[in-house]
Amino acid sequence: MTTTENQFERLRCIKRVDETSDASTFEFEHLDQRPFNFQAGQFLTFEINHYNNLLYRAYSICSSPAKPNSVTVAIKRVPGGKISNYLIDNLQAGHALPAMAPAGKFTREENKTTNNLLLMSAGSGITPCLAIARDILDTEQAINIHFIHSARRSDDVIMLSLLNELADKHKNFRLTMILETTDNATDFHGRLDKTMFAELVASVSEQTIFICGPSLYMKSVEEIVSATDFDMDYFHKESFVAEAKTGETVFSDITHEISVPAIDKAFIANDQQTLLDALHGAGIKVPYSCKSGVCGACKCKVSGNVVSTSQETLTAEQIELGYVLSCSTKANSDLVVEI
Ligand SMILES: Cc1cc2nc3c(=O)[nH]c(=O)nc-3n(C[C@H](O)[C@H](O)[C@H](O)COP(=O)(O)OP(=O)(O)OC[C@H]3O[C@@H](n4cnc5c(N)ncnc54)[C@H](O)[C@@H]3O)c2cc1C
Repeated sequence: MTTTENQFERLRCIKRVDETSDASTFEFEHLDQRPFNFQAGQFLTFEINHYNNLLYRAYSICSSPAKPNSVTVAIKRVPGGKISNYLIDNLQAGHALPAMAPAGKFTREENKTTNNLLLMSAGSGITPCLAIARDILDTEQAINIHFIHSARRSDDVIMLSLLNELADKHKNFRLTMILETTDNATDFHGRLDKTMFAELVASVSEQTIFICGPSLYMKSVEEIVSATDFDMDYFHKESFVAEAKTGETVFSDITHEISVPAIDKAFIANDQQTLLDALHGAGIKVPYSCKSGVCGACKCKVSGNVVSTSQETLTAEQIELGYVLSCSTKANSDLVVEI
């Protein structure tokens, strides 16, 4: 049995909405219409057959777990990007796509929280924050939400009408738009800086922050917030792109045998390679997406000694069983791998 058969299940796209000039939402259901089981803030990893190459990409669910019969993801074009453009150009209602079970730890369940949530996003980073807000509002939890979204213009904002509806309907949901250009007096204008943050957020130490957006945006907010009396244990971020790696572990030039009994294959890998690169180098297909230890698409089970730089998305039970993220793991002895 291949990895694909093990970990992926086909989902049927049942609705597509072109939200902005460069972003569309896609709603999916299980082929047998069984409900989804996920936490708000989690993502799906899709397998896409891109001109006969299997590629993997993660997309955060932006719908609410309280409405589990379907899930919706929003995809924004990345200039020059293979899959975002391919899916927006080709994916229609009726098509089916393989996807892994929802995963990810950018959730209230996995993190320290308070009853005051500051959901901060920019660009496509709106998606997991929207799911967290919708979950709370759908289940009528007594939690105050301040949703602060940054964008260039209002017509760039994915699901803006839904956000406005939520703000009209729910007293505990406050919406702030920070737009680079705006004529609307209720919006903030320009880029979020220290002064604007202080104006927007009164009692910062009482908040829990969930933030998702481009790296520079998140870094600048993190700097602003960490200069206040905010407890950074309550600052939770999700990154959609691989962060530049610093301080990589230096390995000696040693080789180890990697064996994959399920396909009766064994090969020699250098311990400077990640397990994912070593498997791919030996012609063994393992799904992957972010290649930075965020999405969990490349998880596999190993026996032997390894050094891992990330265990994101793995449960304590999976870690105990020997699961690792192959993109973030290097061999430190001979290994037996289950893919
Ligand atoms: C946990 C997780 C959740 C995600 N959720 C969403 C989501 O809800 N909606 C969504 O649209 N995307 C989301 N992404 C990003 C998505 O998985 C893809 O990376 C994105 O669609 C680009 O893929 P691509 O094949 O078009 O670009 P690629 O061909 O992989 O990349 C092309 C170039 O663009 C750069 N790049 C890749 N992704 C981005 C990005 N997001 N912003 C800017 N530059 C980028 C790459 O470094 C590369 O230089 C998520 C990623 C992760 C890890």
